[in-house]
Amino acid sequence: MAYCPYCNRWFKNKQAVRAHLKHCPLKPNKNKIDFEKLFLQFLKVLPKMEVRENGIPKKEIVKWLKIPEETVEELRQWITKNEYSPVLKLMIAGLRQRA
Ligand SMILES: [Zn+2]
Repeated sequence: MAYCPYCNRWFKNKQAVRAHLKHCPLKPNKNKIDFEKLFLQFLKVLPKMEVRENGIPKKEIVKWLKIPEETVEELRQWITKNEYSPVLKLMIAGLRQRA
């Protein structure tokens, strides 16, 4: 018997584990963007960004986070999906008041 170190499922042998690892849902994917990390980076540079009436221009985020526009869009979706939008709106409102 051998088990998968990510999801802890048991398999009959090491070969079966190797086959499973190609599809294991809990195995970290190196090509996948870590949006949690990216979001934290975004928060760190947020006070330095230019804030407009309708929010932060995409170009500002591209410039500060050094990510392509598609990734900015994906980050935006991630923020919405994880319900961080209300807190972000508060922060942006605060920044606009300061300006
Ligand atoms: Zn697994």
